[in-house]
Amino acid sequence: MSELPTNKETPINFIEEIIEADLESGKYKSLITRFPPEPNGYLHIGHAKSICLNFGLTQKYGGKTNLRFDDTNPSKEELEYVDSIKADIKWLGFDWAEELYASDYFDQLYQFAHALIKKGLAYVDDSTAEEIAATKGTPTEPGTGTIYRNRSIEENEALFTKMKNGEFAEGSKTLRAKIDMASPNMHMRDPMLYRIKFDHHHRTGDKWCIYPMYDFAHGQSDAIENITHSVCTLEFIPHRELYDWFIKELDLFPSKQYEFARLNLTYTIMSKRKLLELVKGNYVTGWDDPRMPTISGMRRRGFTPHSIIELCNRVGVSKRDSLIDVSLLEFCLREDLNNIATRRMVIFNPLKVVITNWEDGVEDEFIAENNPEDENSGTRSIPFSREIYIEADDFMEAPPKNYFRLGIGLSVRLKSAYIITCNEVVMDENGKPKELHCTYIKESRSGSDTSGIKVKGTIHWVSIKHAISVQINEYERLFNSENLATEEGDFKDYINPNSLTVITNALAEPSLANATLSNRYQFIRKGYYCLDKESPKDKLIFNRTISLKDTWAKKS
Ligand code: ATP
Ligand code: MG
Repeated sequence: MSELPTNKETPINFIEEIIEADLESGKYKSLITRFPPEPNGYLHIGHAKSICLNFGLTQKYGGKTNLRFDDTNPSKEELEYVDSIKADIKWLGFDWAEELYASDYFDQLYQFAHALIKKGLAYVDDSTAEEIAATKGTPTEPGTGTIYRNRSIEENEALFTKMKNGEFAEGSKTLRAKIDMASPNMHMRDPMLYRIKFDHHHRTGDKWCIYPMYDFAHGQSDAIENITHSVCTLEFIPHRELYDWFIKELDLFPSKQYEFARLNLTYTIMSKRKLLELVKGNYVTGWDDPRMPTISGMRRRGFTPHSIIELCNRVGVSKRDSLIDVSLLEFCLREDLNNIATRRMVIFNPLKVVITNWEDGVEDEFIAENNPEDENSGTRSIPFSREIYIEADDFMEAPPKNYFRLGIGLSVRLKSAYIITCNEVVMDENGKPKELHCTYIKESRSGSDTSGIKVKGTIHWVSIKHAISVQINEYERLFNSENLATEEGDFKDYINPNSLTVITNALAEPSLANATLSNRYQFIRKGYYCLDKESPKDKLIFNRTISLKDTWAKKS
């Protein structure tokens, strides 16, 4: 192998080191990796790490990455999950070479099992799960095995065929590998290869009533597909010996398993089983609830693929488990959104302002940039009239000394418009500010300011006559606990009861009416928002992706 297309500047991770050595020595001609989800739930951000790693390796070294559904467990798998997984990988920006299913190998796996029986390396065991456990020994004591270990090859062949033909009841028999009941690795003490399950499978229907165990399916599927580097997470380290044993005894393509640390984030649950519990228990509105750490939830929340990939790159690939601060993800997100978000003004809690020296009925417009960070983002027109809304908390009746917003006698700049001065406040019957009377300074128009007046504060606003009403969903973290893995009791006890606040009637500048699902928005001085996918046309709904600054750190 000659020159490899690597960037020698950036340090390479341990898997890349292995790959470079394997390609250089000619051990493999080209790289084949796979992303192997079990279709029993939606993908979460932990899966994104595995996706970035597997697809990233072939982007860097050539070769191909397959998508393989590890669908050997019939009872928990559904087509909805298959479709969502494909959509999520595509959204992240990756494309697989082949779409494959472990269930397509059921015939071949069945032949492999017979091949092991013929070699005297597998047997049918009639013991119950309890009996098998009781004869397995402990990590420090060898197991004894069951009496069925000594069944003849002929008997095993006949019994296994009958198992496949549905002649035995569920749980009455299993097929086990015959390896070593004294192995220090418990996974080598005659692991189960097949169990009887009269379940309907989402692809093979009712053809099978025996299903292979994960260990008997995964490595062999890798080998069938000529996967060169099968990367998985650290919990599979003890399975590696068995992975290699099957490949050796069945004389298959020499796929090799390598393990890396899974991604764990603070304040985040990453287990499909637990996420399903949240969905089933209606703690969230579905797998794609914007508070979920699923790829589809994050998409709906307004995360960008770039921010997720950037997180995975920054975290890197390591051999030791760690807990990553979710604020690193939020940092990657803010950085990306700042570059791409279209700026708009939206008032969440309105206070009316009358510009008393602006003639009634007269309208004006200001042209403002869509995104000052991007000169190609264009401009929009912001209408102005005598009556506007500002945020109620941008006014104080008795402002402290360094208050740079509005109070009686104080001046601020209206973003992209004029400087105004507050002269009078009108109170409602409860003694709360009802409207402000202000005057504008004609010479202070943004872009052509000749007033010579300097003000420290700039506030956002909307023209009352032109504003549109929108709904805002303000999302916070779903969990209150930083490290859920260390908490006692049920993880659901740590759900943040204030993870969603709905503002039903926020008022937006009219150009927001053209919001699209693909665009991201910065509501000036508020945060980053996106249109919700189920937003009705006549009342737009925006999800808060994230606040402008890390206010959480301050609160806690
Ligand atoms: P879960 O425990 O959430 O159900 P899983 O590992 O059972 O996850 P799979 O569908 O089997 O889910 O995972 C597909 C691939 O994604 C596997 O290779 C798995 O190792 C990897 N993966 C899953 N979770 C993470 C994670 N948090 N970080 C990195 N990789 C992960
Ligand atoms: Mg799994």
